[in-house]
Amino acid sequence: VQRLSGGFCSVCGERIASPYAFSDLPGGEQPRCGICRRIEPVFARAAAYGSYDGALRELIHLLKYNRIRPAANVLGRMLAEVIESLQPGFGDASLIVVPVPLHARRVKQRGFNHSELLASAACKVLRSPHLHVIPAVLERSKDTVSQTGLTRHQRQENMRGAFTVAAPSDIRDREVLLVDDVFTTGTTAAECARVLRRAGASKVWVATVARTLKAENQFARVGSGKTEELSLAARA
Ligand SMILES: [Zn+2]
Repeated sequence: VQRLSGGFCSVCGERIASPYAFSDLPGGEQPRCGICRRIEPVFARAAAYGSYDGALRELIHLLKYNRIRPAANVLGRMLAEVIESLQPGFGDASLIVVPVPLHARRVKQRGFNHSELLASAACKVLRSPHLHVIPAVLERSKDTVSQTGLTRHQRQENMRGAFTVAAPSDIRDREVLLVDDVFTTGTTAAECARVLRRAGASKVWVATVARTLKAENQFARVGSGKTEELSLAARA
């Protein structure tokens, strides 16, 4: 499993293929993808360990669908690295770690919430006294249908009202680190962050093991120059 490398949006973590995104930035400004330049995301920053394909996708499926719990330890180590990479931005001394919840029916089916296992495994690796996993902060009130194949807009509709904050006193005026297995379009993370912020969280960070990269960005590499970008455009 390879860690993502290259140039990424400093907010949502999407790969940025254009080398121009990194030039001519005014002092200290971080590069942003087209979407994050247009709409200010509700979370402070989202980061992932690797691309959601190949061996990493298989590992996540082993955990979620084959219910091989030890896979959570391997994935948790990757997640720990992601949390460490976000750490310089943390404004609070201690953070509340909140796994994205599953609907009670799914937890019953699977026997566990995989995001909760991942959060615990990562925090065990980090051994930080400043990270407090509180799984009961968020509740999934709506059992959403699978997001696969839905457009961004349909995903937003599907997610509306899916989460509620069960313990607002735990997060009021606190920074929250949201943990999930995969960041796809960011709809789930954005909806969780929205309700957390509305319930009083001062900031929401997002750490996932994997993320899907937009197809057109998958083969382009930042910094490889104009020629490659043009040849990619010509092939498209
Ligand atoms: Zn972005």
